[in-house]
Amino acid sequence: GSFNMAQKRVMVTGGSGLVGQAIRTVVEADAKPDESWIFLSSKDGDLSDAQQTEAIFEKYKPTHVIHLAAMVGGLFHNMAHNLDFLRVNLQINDNVLHNSYKFKVHKVVSCLSTCIFPDQTPYPIDETMVHNGPPHPSNFGYSHAKRLIDVQNHAYYQQYGCMFTSVVPCNVFGPHDNFRQGEAHVLPALLARIHKAATEGQPAVTVLGTGKPLRQFIYSLDLAKLMVWALWNYDSVEPIILSVDEKDEVSIGEVAHVLAKACGYQGRLEFDTSQADGQFKKTASNAKLRSLLPDFQFTPLEQAIKETAHWYSHNWMSARS
Ligand code: NDP
Repeated sequence: GSFNMAQKRVMVTGGSGLVGQAIRTVVEADAKPDESWIFLSSKDGDLSDAQQTEAIFEKYKPTHVIHLAAMVGGLFHNMAHNLDFLRVNLQINDNVLHNSYKFKVHKVVSCLSTCIFPDQTPYPIDETMVHNGPPHPSNFGYSHAKRLIDVQNHAYYQQYGCMFTSVVPCNVFGPHDNFRQGEAHVLPALLARIHKAATEGQPAVTVLGTGKPLRQFIYSLDLAKLMVWALWNYDSVEPIILSVDEKDEVSIGEVAHVLAKACGYQGRLEFDTSQADGQFKKTASNAKLRSLLPDFQFTPLEQAIKETAHWYSHNWMSARS
């Protein structure tokens, strides 16, 4: 292989997931001769295991790391497994960051999430507010593990001068998402159910909750472009929010209707208001991103959902569904 020749060896943990596969698509469309990219999956080793993680760093000797690997899930998965989300993610993050330090990685870009911000907060949320108060109780395990990435980044910088930073995406969706009921985030969970209802001619689909909560959704391919930009151009330990604009916030109900349209579903959408809604909103400001990349064009939600529904209709049998 050519990866030993390349000056920049970028290792992507979680490279088989939703965001990792989008980064692969983006870098393969614009390959650079001095870069080689390694996309890891859990088959390459369990990053919650210290020895296996060290062996991966020893094998690939990355100069740069995009750290995506995490135990990830939607509201209902989180509510039932807060301890697992806390422990597994703490272990993965410590192993990846400490080996990045030991192996002299020039830069690490890790992923936080807008859903780890304080539950009680003024809006819009910005990068300075990550640690300002307790997270929403539904996902406190995941949230505290993610917040500690930022703490660790600052500590590695203070003690050793490491350039370990983080990005904060809003809700991500796209091809290669996890569509399994009980695990999936709201958009892929709904897409899978509406697709099934459309295929089987079911008269109605139940949406869990009131449909009223507001969310910002970013298309995985847009996020991938922004993360590659951050890797080469964003040189600060402070986190940066990678989100669509505030005006692009939509309700879960609206998303359900866009999904139904994309799937050609003619049936009814019924809202089961006895189910949990999660946080009502988590509006994030992308002002910092906009100050650095004022002209970035996000894919319109309808188009991105159409592309994702198209991908799912061709891949649902092999996808995580
Ligand atoms: P996915 O669930 O699609 O992918 C998770 C990835 O992590 C997979 O490649 C998986 O490997 C790998 N992985 C999980 N556990 C381990 C482990 N113990 N050892 C090695 N690899 C492991 O996640 P996303 O792509 O959605 O998320 C990527 C990052 O973005 C995460 O850090 C997440 O917290 C963050 N994020 C995601 C958002 C979203 O809406 N999806 C929103 C905001 C942030 P395998 O395929 O082999 O299982």
